[in-house]
Amino acid sequence: MSEWDWLAEPRATVSACSPWMNPRRDCRRHLRGLLRAGDTESLCRRCGDCCHLSIKLPRPSGPVRILVPGLVCKFLRWDGDTATCEVYEERAAKAPWCNNTENGLMMGLYTAGCGYVQGAGWYRGSERIPDELLPHLLPEVRECLRGPFRSEDIERFFRRWERP
Ligand code: SF4
Ligand code: SF4
Repeated sequence: MSEWDWLAEPRATVSACSPWMNPRRDCRRHLRGLLRAGDTESLCRRCGDCCHLSIKLPRPSGPVRILVPGLVCKFLRWDGDTATCEVYEERAAKAPWCNNTENGLMMGLYTAGCGYVQGAGWYRGSERIPDELLPHLLPEVRECLRGPFRSEDIERFFRRWERP
């Protein structure tokens, strides 16, 4: 028995889930505290975790968000173990999918060691699962990447309009 056995069971797809993991009020209060304390940028240890795809799943004991290794924002660059955003100063314009800190807290994008969530006992964040369990996530990963559009429609559209 492992805490992740439920992953192998049939379950609702990710589109049935709200993205939020944590209450807005708690997140805003925590963020105000961080801002009062000073330089929030220095709290980031450049692990890159919050720039990964992560998926919220309806775990029987309560929702969980799982980080998907290997699927990272196209602007993330690695220097050894240190992650850097290639467009950090312009990310609002160039990466509209990039979440601000309040949304990151509400969605639970930050992992346990992140400086943004230290001291927030109520916070539930992204978790890693053993690699051998990743095949159980593939339907949700596919659903997330496809979004509301059918893959055959996407392919048909590009076949018709993409220039050679
Ligand atoms: S999870 Fe936290 S420490 Fe890691 S890159 Fe994101 S903000 Fe920085
Ligand atoms: S744009 Fe946002 S999600 Fe992408 S690498 Fe930069 S900080 Fe991470």
